[in-house]
Amino acid sequence: MIAEVIVDVPSYDTDRPFDYEIPDRFAHKLQVGSRVMVPFGRRKLQGFVTRIKGESAFAKLRSLNEVLDETPPLTEELIQLASWMSKTYGCFFITAIQAMLPSPLKSLTGNGIAPKLEKQLTWAMKKEEVRSQFSSLKRAPRQRDVLTYLLEHLDEEERIPLRVCCQEVSVSTQVVHQLVEKGFLSLNEVEVWRDPFEEHKFSQEEPKVLTAEQHEALAVIKEAIQNKSSKPVLLHGVTGSGKTEIYLHAIQLVLDQQRQAILLVPEISLTPQMVRRFKGCFGDQVAVLHSGLSQGERFDEWRRIRQGEAPVVVGARSAIFAPLTKLGVIIIDEEHETTYKQEEQPRYHAREVAKWRADYYGAVPVMGSATPSLESYVRAHTDHYSYLSLPSRVNQQPLPEITIVDMREELRAGHRQMFSRQLIEGMTACIKNKEQIILFLNRRGYATFVMCRQCGYTAKCPHCDISLTYHRRQNLLRCHYCGYTEPTPHHCPSCQSPHIRYFGTGTQKVEEELSRQFPGLRILRMDVDTTSTKGSHERILTAFRQQEADVLLGTQMIAKGLDFPNVTLVGVIAADTILNLPDFRSAEKTFQLLTQVAGRAGRHQKKGHVVIQTYTPEHYSIQYAAHHDYLGFAREELAHRKQMSYPPFRRLLLITFSHTELPYLMKMAQIVTQQVRGRMAPTVQVLGPVASPLARIKDRYRLQCVIKYKNEPQIVENIVEVLRNMKQEMEQRQLMISIDVDPLFLM
Ligand code: ADP
Ligand code: ZN
Ligand code: ZN
Repeated sequence: MIAEVIVDVPSYDTDRPFDYEIPDRFAHKLQVGSRVMVPFGRRKLQGFVTRIKGESAFAKLRSLNEVLDETPPLTEELIQLASWMSKTYGCFFITAIQAMLPSPLKSLTGNGIAPKLEKQLTWAMKKEEVRSQFSSLKRAPRQRDVLTYLLEHLDEEERIPLRVCCQEVSVSTQVVHQLVEKGFLSLNEVEVWRDPFEEHKFSQEEPKVLTAEQHEALAVIKEAIQNKSSKPVLLHGVTGSGKTEIYLHAIQLVLDQQRQAILLVPEISLTPQMVRRFKGCFGDQVAVLHSGLSQGERFDEWRRIRQGEAPVVVGARSAIFAPLTKLGVIIIDEEHETTYKQEEQPRYHAREVAKWRADYYGAVPVMGSATPSLESYVRAHTDHYSYLSLPSRVNQQPLPEITIVDMREELRAGHRQMFSRQLIEGMTACIKNKEQIILFLNRRGYATFVMCRQCGYTAKCPHCDISLTYHRRQNLLRCHYCGYTEPTPHHCPSCQSPHIRYFGTGTQKVEEELSRQFPGLRILRMDVDTTSTKGSHERILTAFRQQEADVLLGTQMIAKGLDFPNVTLVGVIAADTILNLPDFRSAEKTFQLLTQVAGRAGRHQKKGHVVIQTYTPEHYSIQYAAHHDYLGFAREELAHRKQMSYPPFRRLLLITFSHTELPYLMKMAQIVTQQVRGRMAPTVQVLGPVASPLARIKDRYRLQCVIKYKNEPQIVENIVEVLRNMKQEMEQRQLMISIDVDPLFLM
């Protein structure tokens, strides 16, 4: 027999299977998905078996050296998935395989992670016999104590950790060893799982009785599960409408059929509260995968899944690769979140991977969100997805009232501060009532934009309708989709005001201003600076929950999933910072973020209020968010996308080039773009190359080429072909070229 093996070297030359003879001694345990050692040139390499076959086109084959694991780390399904990913995303096959593995299996040394062993005791003879020989221990009272304890607590065939036994009876291990020598007990090293939640006690929770609305939604999902339909379900429910409760019920239905479930949540929502809800319902059947775990814990959770001991997997993006083999449902909570797209190779989207796996198993993909991505919304509208709606909160609490503050008015009234009069008024009242406040400031990306503070005018590209980016060095504005430039204006082209300037405020500045305005105010700040250490995120939230602070001030980290009963006011300091990101999705992101942020207020008894400060109050994303009108927003935004030929009506593909020398980079980017253009149908738009908005990172210049297309099945293959021809430049001169299919950020 012959094995096709993908070796563990990501390069163009090794990006194909190599044939190896399978020695007879491995035949019984070698499977597709096995990790093996193979001779390769003069080296020995790790690799993965992707196929087993009877014959090879090559005459003289070398033999496999070794099969590394008893259970293959990957299944045949995952190998097929990796193959699909490499074709779909234009990455190396091995890169896709690597994305599926926990890190100890990625490298040969295992990063020093070994299985955890524990010494455990079992009976070496029948308990009956132990009792009859008990009297032989007359002179060994300590040994008798041990046996007395075990006779009561340890059944035949059962095991007990040596450590526990010694603790319970208060004896040294030596006493137990003597019993082992006498043949009463046997002692073995047994592999045990590291449990990341060992310290947490999860009380058993009963699933709640569903409301009529929830029940109706679940009925559709239930039918899909029973019919093994893999048509995705979009569950569109406002914040607090009981989506999570539906997930719990759907998972239970799947478990009842002896099938399995994956639930993806954004990394940042994977809090102990969240885990508690799932562990409370399903106990040890739940495995949790996220980056907060130690490598050993992660490895053990993964193996627990692989061995079929944990049919429910809860985790962040990469948990979509959990090695389950009987999937019945795959749930993606907050499906619009950008964290589901991996921003490094392989640049996959978990939603698309979920659909592939669901198709394979006849599982139902369920995607939940209060603000579905327009991609999903359109698919639901065109009946590619089923659409379920939960329009009201479970507790019938009204959604919070939203006030939009026109910051141009504030300026006109001579009020030039960071906080508007309405926001100050709201905060003052809140503080007086001993209620809490969340202040939100968006600051993502490095791009700066130019805005008139008098009339809200922002400079946009006439060809692409996205904000122009300010470049300080050349003092000009540039479009990073198409390369259009114009000089930086001194007066507003719209109202002639000189109050036109580039924008950007940090959380630290807001904090200073807050302390100045409200002396003695207790402020917790949550941003990349204050959450860099492990557990800091959780600590800040706990402190705020325990009302150790009046204000939680933060970036988008605080927009999601948080539920604080005492928060009655949410303030958005500058809605425009998102709106003017040089990104065609900026309106959608603004709408999503404002809706999410607003969802933090008044979730319980106390009524909530939201204040949004903006220089462009008339913008539809802000208006629709203020009226809790997703459908209105979607309609208007889609019309716009259609007109500008953006997703979801067209697809995008981004090629990014980087190198330390700009002239060389420009030359190569030109050549590659030209070759790509030559291979595309005339309807495909190949734009650029132009400077990336992140024009230089770590001394490497960056250029990009944006491709817009509708239906071009061979596009990735064609581009990979072009890149393959450039492999010498890439390998010898450190030219980097990466492709990103359906990019979320054009940066
Ligand atoms: P979402 O995921 O849509 O934000 P959740 O499922 O978290 O909503 O529900 C919001 C709150 O309502 C939670 O505290 C949850 O325990 C509660 N809840 C959900 N469904 C029910 C129900 N059928 N009966 C009672 N309480 C419910
Ligand atoms: Zn442009
Ligand atoms: Zn103006």
